[in-house]
Amino acid sequence: MRTEFDTELETRLLRYAAVDSQSDERGNTSPSTAIQLDLARMLAGELADIGAADVQITDYGAVLATIPGSVPDAPVLGLLAHMDTAPAFNATGVKPRVTRGYNGGAISFPDAPALVLSPEVSPHLGEKLGHDIITASGTTLLGADDKAGIAILMTMARHLLANPGLPHGTIRLAFTPDEEIGRGVDKRLPADLGAAFAYTLDGGAVGELEFETFSADGAVVTITGVSAHPGYARGKMVNALHLAAKLVALLPQHTMLPELTAGRDGFIHLYEISGGAAQAELRFILRDFELDGLAAKGALLRQAAEAVAATEPRAGVAVTIRPQYRNMRYWLENDMTPVRLAEAAIRAEGITPVSVPIRGGTDGSRLTEMGVPCPNLFTGMQEIHGPLEWVSVQDMAASVRVCLRLAGMAAGQAA
Ligand SMILES: [Zn+2]
Repeated sequence: MRTEFDTELETRLLRYAAVDSQSDERGNTSPSTAIQLDLARMLAGELADIGAADVQITDYGAVLATIPGSVPDAPVLGLLAHMDTAPAFNATGVKPRVTRGYNGGAISFPDAPALVLSPEVSPHLGEKLGHDIITASGTTLLGADDKAGIAILMTMARHLLANPGLPHGTIRLAFTPDEEIGRGVDKRLPADLGAAFAYTLDGGAVGELEFETFSADGAVVTITGVSAHPGYARGKMVNALHLAAKLVALLPQHTMLPELTAGRDGFIHLYEISGGAAQAELRFILRDFELDGLAAKGALLRQAAEAVAATEPRAGVAVTIRPQYRNMRYWLENDMTPVRLAEAAIRAEGITPVSVPIRGGTDGSRLTEMGVPCPNLFTGMQEIHGPLEWVSVQDMAASVRVCLRLAGMAAGQAA
C-alpha cells in the first residue's frame, strides 16, 4: 500500500535519523551542541537543491527558507520542525530500520534482543497493518521526534517547488535547534520567520491538532552547606546533601508528581540532584495548564525551601524559578482561525481531528506567546524519546497531504 510520497519520506527520514543531532541542556552555545549544525547544513543544502529561496542558517542555528507563493496577497504561512533529538536517551549511532508491510505482530530489534515493540506496548501500532514501520535498532532512540516533521516538510517543499502551479501563498520553513531543551525559539525567530501564523510538525498520532500546552517553569534550588574535615566536623559541618533530602521529603509525595498525574493535572518534577556535602543543586520542572496552578507549585517549592533553611541558619538555600513557556491557548482562543484551518485540512483528507492538551510544550508555545499563532500538527511519531520509538511511513504521507491542503486553504485567508 505505497502512496505517492512514501519512498521520498522513508529515504529522507532514514538519512536524517542517522545524523546525531542531540541537544544538551548544559551547552551554553546556540545551538547547544555543534552536531546540530551537521543536520542544519545537510538540510540547507537539500533546500537549495530543490530550489527553495532565501536558504539561510541563522547564527542561532535555525535553517530558514522560502517557498515562493503562487497566490498574491495571501498571508505568509510558517511551517516548523525541530532538528534536535531528546537528551533523554542515547541518540548516537542511530541505525534506522524499516519493517515493510507490518503484519500486526511483534517487531524485534537486532541490537537489543530482549526489546519488543508490539500493539500491547504501543496501541496505535495495532492500527498500522500493512504500513511500513521505521524504528531504530534497539540501543538508541529513532529521532522521528522530530525528523519525521522535517521529512514531511522537506517532502512537501520539494512537491510544491516541483509543481509551481499549485495554489498557495508564500511559505516560510524553519528547522529549529534545541526544542527538546526548551530553547528552540530565539527571540529573533518571529521576525526572521515573518509568518502571519504557523504550525509545528511535532505531534504524534494521525489527526492530532494541538492548540493547548502546559505552562512551564524551571526551578533550581541551590543548597550551600559548610564544608569541614569529617573527622573534626563536630559543630562545624553543614551537609548540603542532607538538607537536599529534607527538601525532597517536604515536597508532595502522593500527588503532583508526573508518575501520578494525567489529563489536566500539573506537577512538580525533581529530575536531577547534583553536588556534594558542600553544595547541592536540585533541578525541577513545574507544569500546569493554568498560570495560577503553576504559581502555586512555585510557591510550594519556595515554602519547602524556606522551611529547610529555617532548620539550619548556617546553610544557604536559594530558589530560582524561570519561565519556560506558556499555554498557547491563552492567545489562540482570541483567534481560532489557524486551528479551524488545520481542522478543515485534516477533515478534507478524511481524517478526524483529535485535539487534546499537550502535557508538554512545543516551539509553538513560545512562538504563539511572541505573536505568531502556532498550533501543532501530527507527524505519526510514537513512543518518542526511547528505544521503542517508531513511525509509519504512510502516516507521514498523510501528514504531507494535510500540509498541502493547509497551504492551499491558508492562501484563501485575507492577509
Ligand atoms: Zn518534538
